[in-house]
Amino acid sequence: MTRLAILGSTGSIGRTTFAVLEGLRRQDGNAEWEVVALAAGRRVEDLIHQARAWSPGLVCVAASADARRAREELPGVEVLSGGRGLCELVADGRVDVVVNGLVGAVGLAPTESALKAGKIVAMANKEPLVMAGGLLQEAALAGGGELLPVDSEPSALWQCLRGEREEDVSRLILTASGGAFRDRSRSELARVTAAEALHHPTWRMGPKITVDSATLMNKGFEVIEAAWLFGVDVDRVEVVIHRESIVHSLVEFTDGSILAHLGRTDMSLPIQYALTYPVRKPGTLPRLDLADVGALHFEAPDPDRVPGLSLCRDAARAGGTAPAALNAANEVAVSAFLEGRLGFLDIHELNLCVVDGWDPGPATDLETVLEADRLARARAVERLSPATAGTRR
Ligand code: MG
Repeated sequence: MTRLAILGSTGSIGRTTFAVLEGLRRQDGNAEWEVVALAAGRRVEDLIHQARAWSPGLVCVAASADARRAREELPGVEVLSGGRGLCELVADGRVDVVVNGLVGAVGLAPTESALKAGKIVAMANKEPLVMAGGLLQEAALAGGGELLPVDSEPSALWQCLRGEREEDVSRLILTASGGAFRDRSRSELARVTAAEALHHPTWRMGPKITVDSATLMNKGFEVIEAAWLFGVDVDRVEVVIHRESIVHSLVEFTDGSILAHLGRTDMSLPIQYALTYPVRKPGTLPRLDLADVGALHFEAPDPDRVPGLSLCRDAARAGGTAPAALNAANEVAVSAFLEGRLGFLDIHELNLCVVDGWDPGPATDLETVLEADRLARARAVERLSPATAGTRR
């Protein structure tokens, strides 16, 4: 029996995880997985609904007012709240595996807590790895925890790397769909709206990651994520644009061979693999029909159209707190864009403005990284405010 905690249970990853568990339950009566803890942000009614269906003993919500509501509706369930509640939930003795489907920096502290407490963390939340990949590795080493990728591209790399020797790997190649605006000119990009950005051509995901896909910041973050997960330098992680999103990523070996992972464009595939690893269970999706797919296309990303990619590489090379600062700026910029307060191209400008001249001290501990996150957010918000809007580049 594997006892699961699902963080971000009401979001896209959380809902897909339940669908995967339902599929597995249909196969074997779901004897192997039990949901013991759920955590959501503000969608407390959805969380209550999920808790009634899956009967966890423990839930966590963001606000204490929502926690009161959950206590009224879920008698007998232990209800926690806030960031501290999340850290307590993941470290609870009832939990074996944490599915982290949170969005953004909020996932950092609970990921560290879970790893320190020796839990397996199935990680869909890439921002903590971007911010503090080294610290998370140290936490895993110290506590006996383990990070498993759930993001489709790192999962593909993980599968291609299985059974191979580290010294035989030459490059990791991440595929990118190119996002919602892959065919727009730069002048068109200046006018695109949040509603347009949320129409991803191949993947159905939450709003933040969908905007990050359009700016290619998501791919830049995946470069950093893959470098930490698989112990390679960011310069050995390359990106290729692949419009069909059928090849999820590739690994090139020293002999010139390339292994690729192909599959349907559906997050239930990498989520199920992380849950059943090292075993494979029958999937519930229709089989991928290659003849139906027909052709697969690959092209080099145009650096002028997607400057976010090199911003991420630069931050990774600078090291220390630089990636955390870039992530914080980007979270502020993406929220402002989604609220219609910032243009699409201004997302990059705001990110650039915060990381330009950032003094990246070493990321010695979680508090240092979170302090960098707060400072970078404050700088980004300051640049956004109407009083300084005129000075924005
Ligand atoms: Mg991805």
